[in-house]
Amino acid sequence: MKEAKTQVNKVLNKLIPLYAHVPIGIKYVTPFQLVVGVILSAQCTDERVNQVTATFFDDFQTAQDFAQLSQAKLEKMIKPTGFFRNKAKNILGAANMILHDYQGVIPNSMKELIKIPGFGRKTANVILARLYEINEGVCVDTHVMRLSQRLRLTKHKDPIRIERDLMAITSQKHWETLSHCLIWHGRKVCKARKPNCTECVLNKICPFAPAPFAGSSV
Ligand code: SF4
Repeated sequence: MKEAKTQVNKVLNKLIPLYAHVPIGIKYVTPFQLVVGVILSAQCTDERVNQVTATFFDDFQTAQDFAQLSQAKLEKMIKPTGFFRNKAKNILGAANMILHDYQGVIPNSMKELIKIPGFGRKTANVILARLYEINEGVCVDTHVMRLSQRLRLTKHKDPIRIERDLMAITSQKHWETLSHCLIWHGRKVCKARKPNCTECVLNKICPFAPAPFAGSSV
């Protein structure tokens, strides 16, 4: 635990200057558009999500706007993001629940957010951090999972356990920053198939980096 705490602090010190100021990949203006973007981003790149939402975000901004859509029409609008039937069902379910149970205002607690269709802890963490600046957990996506393992911040493979490990070793004020930085570093440098260890600012502290980098300043 102590080693992992030291390691995560080193990781944050290196990554915060690179990524803390970079906005999240999903483009949105209104809170409910963030909900839509996050739901659509499952199994889809942010670039594709942004291309698709750009075609209708001017006309559809609130939970009320989306709740008026038929399932068939919404499916057609979001089809290029994949898994469009399920995503349309979740967006409509989320719009209706937020409209009728929360008077159109997206709730600001994990307990309530995870009851919304299409929401898991990952989605809820993004919403809490971005809309309300609340750190209630660490958003664990595929990049956070991979980098946490490579950097030995966790030994687990299950996202819930990884989140628990990251929360235990990182100060709460940095939970959102940690996932944000790991996501961007995973996209740009530490890619799944070809991590660019030569150019990586973490190569001296990363156990996964090949010689001569690995562990050279741990
Ligand atoms: S050194 Fe390589 S494996 Fe380690 S974080 Fe950087 S890119 Fe990823």
